[in-house]
Amino acid sequence: MRLNFPHHPRKRFGQNFLRDPQVIHHIIDAIHPEKEDRIIEIGPGQGILTKSLLEVVDHLEVIEIDRDLAVQLNLNYAHTHQLTVHTNDVLQVDFNAFIAEPKNTRKLRVIGNLPYNISTPLIFHLLSFSPLLLDMHFMLQKEVADRLVAAPNQKQYGRLSIMAQYYCHIEPLFLVPPNAFYPSPKVQSTFVRLIPHQSIPHPALNHSLFQEVTRTAFNQRRKTLGNALKIYLNIEDFAALKITPTLRPETLSVADFVRISNYIHGHPKLSSLEST
Ligand code: SAM
Repeated sequence: MRLNFPHHPRKRFGQNFLRDPQVIHHIIDAIHPEKEDRIIEIGPGQGILTKSLLEVVDHLEVIEIDRDLAVQLNLNYAHTHQLTVHTNDVLQVDFNAFIAEPKNTRKLRVIGNLPYNISTPLIFHLLSFSPLLLDMHFMLQKEVADRLVAAPNQKQYGRLSIMAQYYCHIEPLFLVPPNAFYPSPKVQSTFVRLIPHQSIPHPALNHSLFQEVTRTAFNQRRKTLGNALKIYLNIEDFAALKITPTLRPETLSVADFVRISNYIHGHPKLSSLEST
């Protein structure tokens, strides 16, 4: 994008702009955009991915928090009528709004070289809209990508792994070195694809209870399950669930956490604790 003013990368907005043409090519290749796709780009910045996407798609919506960059994108593309710029904090965006019009029933594709400072809360935010999403492609700090795909008993396994794997199939696609960005971050990055499951493999009967149980368990990661979940379950409940209460939360699978929350949901005495 041609800027009409010098733009100094803003650390508070996690601005690390992509500058390696080969990496940009790989990203577009992996997304494989098509003319009629409904793509939402998060954090277009100076528009390096935006430009390549607009060469293919009829229309693109972008969400950018930095007003200066949003103004510039509008100026550069106003004449094309191909780009809608939402100057907004993506964490405040209700993605239902994108499919509010009855004509726009096509599922959304969400992409972005994400600001690393908000990538974890943003993934949690987007997972809550997963039925509306066809797929998501993100550049993430490698450590966050590792947490997304971690399995039980691995160091990186936690609430993010469980919630992401509950809703999505996740594929780490390729590693990206710091020098692909300006300014260069201190960490490696991974480009990742998340595809929401068409039907959830282990469905929770009560989603907010499932989230709450998982959060409670991992808030107290060092404690045994028996201690961490004692507000919900006693020894007899663990026996009924066939889960050993002396285990730690990171040993349980997504299916185990679903089983625990469905058990609590199905026991009126325990469910009465849901709102506490
Ligand atoms: N896509 C560009 C690229 O690859 O060069 C910029 C990526 S940069 C890592 C992250 C972008 O997200 C920046 O443009 C930044 O201003 C924007 N951003 C940061 N926080 C945001 C938020 N909460 N909502 C929307 N955009 C945000």
